[in-house]
Amino acid sequence: MTQPNGPVPRPGILDIAAYVGGEHAGHIRLASNEGALGPSPKAVEAYQRAAAELHRYPDGGASALRKAIAGRYGLDAERIVCGAGSDELISLLIRAYAGPGDEVLYSQHGFLMYPIGAKSVGATPVQAPETNLTTDVDALLAHVTPRTKLVFVANPNNPTGTYITAEEMARLHAGLPSNVVLVIDAAYAEYMNHNDYSAGQDLVDRFPNVVMARTFSKIYALGSLRLGWAYCPAGIADVLNRVRGPFNVSAAAQAAGVAAIGDTDFIERSRAHNTQWREWFAGEVTALGLTIHPSVTNFILVDFAGQTPGKDDAEAARQFLKGRGILVRQMPAYGLPSCLRVSIGTEAEMREVVTALKDFLAA
Ligand SMILES: *Cc1c(COP(=O)(O)O)cnc(C)c1O
Repeated sequence: MTQPNGPVPRPGILDIAAYVGGEHAGHIRLASNEGALGPSPKAVEAYQRAAAELHRYPDGGASALRKAIAGRYGLDAERIVCGAGSDELISLLIRAYAGPGDEVLYSQHGFLMYPIGAKSVGATPVQAPETNLTTDVDALLAHVTPRTKLVFVANPNNPTGTYITAEEMARLHAGLPSNVVLVIDAAYAEYMNHNDYSAGQDLVDRFPNVVMARTFSKIYALGSLRLGWAYCPAGIADVLNRVRGPFNVSAAAQAAGVAAIGDTDFIERSRAHNTQWREWFAGEVTALGLTIHPSVTNFILVDFAGQTPGKDDAEAARQFLKGRGILVRQMPAYGLPSCLRVSIGTEAEMREVVTALKDFLAA
């Protein structure tokens, strides 16, 4: 696509397969793990109020939002950095700490923004294998080399829906050289209620090389606004504040974020809804004879492998669902071509998906 004698991007850029987001044109959209209940009404009100001040630049330091986050999660506001989605913070971390010749390590079915971010700075993405679709700490440690600059672990992971325990994460950190940044991407942490899990803030507080990335796009259901944050050791917060745009988070996003974080009842309801309908969906799909991969998040992988010929084709199933206006995510880019990832939606939506899957298998 590059013109002869035309501008040539830096090495690595043209190796990127551009990220393909979930499709939009359907009446049931379960392809992007957006919160099932939509945003808190309080966040919507705050967003609307922000319309009166559209001529003003946002607070570049996002002070009110950082304070709200710090209060809610028991963190030091000074070491929170907000971004236009956690995607921006992931990119900035890679840009700040890796370059040509360096390696960015992540796990086999890890989130695609890690290899995309690595290639965009000319670094090499390196994959460590998983065990049972779960991050394998020993495999990650075995793939660390003197060139490794960052290790990304989505915990729980998207798209597998699995997690590693706080103990395992600490073991991973303990095995890394001190110059390697461990980024714990806890985009789905709010859905968790497991005693052996930690989103990673304890490691951030104890070590200078651990970052926890969080998002408002999942349980807070503000994906449209692009809002994420990172909790960092002081040195890394300083680096991110140097490389980020001075006004990288819009005022409307900051206002909505503050309101969303304050609406704890809404988050509780969202979490309970998710657990209830995820377990219901898993049971129904299993009863249809399909395989599900158990998930602790707001999505589930449905696996068509082992079905009779024709019914073992995840893409055919996806097209069948799409024909009914139901959008779910294809998984070839994640190395899981026999699976579809289905986000947990409303009760009515989940019932329609089950009916459609049943009809696909019967057709
Ligand atoms: C959805 C997701 C994100 C981030 O989203 P933003 O909308 O950019 O905040 C980050 N990591 C994982 C693993 C995700 O699934």
